[in-house]
Amino acid sequence: MINFKTSQGDEGEVVVELTGPLDEFADLGPVFSLPGRKLHLNLERVERVNSMGVRNWVRALDQHLQGREIVFEKVKPPILEQFNLIRRFGGGGRILSLYIPYLCEPCGQETLALKSADECRRGDHWACPVTKCPSCRAAMVLDDDEKEFFLYFYGPGTP
Ligand SMILES: [Zn+2]
Repeated sequence: MINFKTSQGDEGEVVVELTGPLDEFADLGPVFSLPGRKLHLNLERVERVNSMGVRNWVRALDQHLQGREIVFEKVKPPILEQFNLIRRFGGGGRILSLYIPYLCEPCGQETLALKSADECRRGDHWACPVTKCPSCRAAMVLDDDEKEFFLYFYGPGTP
């Protein structure tokens, strides 16, 4: 089951906070059919996804979004992977912020750090902002391929 609660965003848009796995039981019609010219989804509490969930998501998005603007914030790595694999998953919307999996090569520490898309933008390409290791203060690196990790950001519909 995926649950959601709504609140009002800074620009008067509907902000929807989703909680739960994106799986075969996820009913997203009620989410994507919420009123308003713009939908703002907080995905911080969506951490697991399977192929049935992705199918539900894309189908509901196609059916209910109807050309309205959609933006996403606090996207976790398993969900970002879907954005990267399936272009339609994002509904042409921007990702405002995301969790980046960092690795400290010297000491092996791993951390998930929330960064805004603005912090990741370097002119015409995308890169992880410098983050210091909480244990040894060394500069941490992305625990993934940078080009693949930011793939969605290079596509249409992104800033
Ligand atoms: Zn370290």
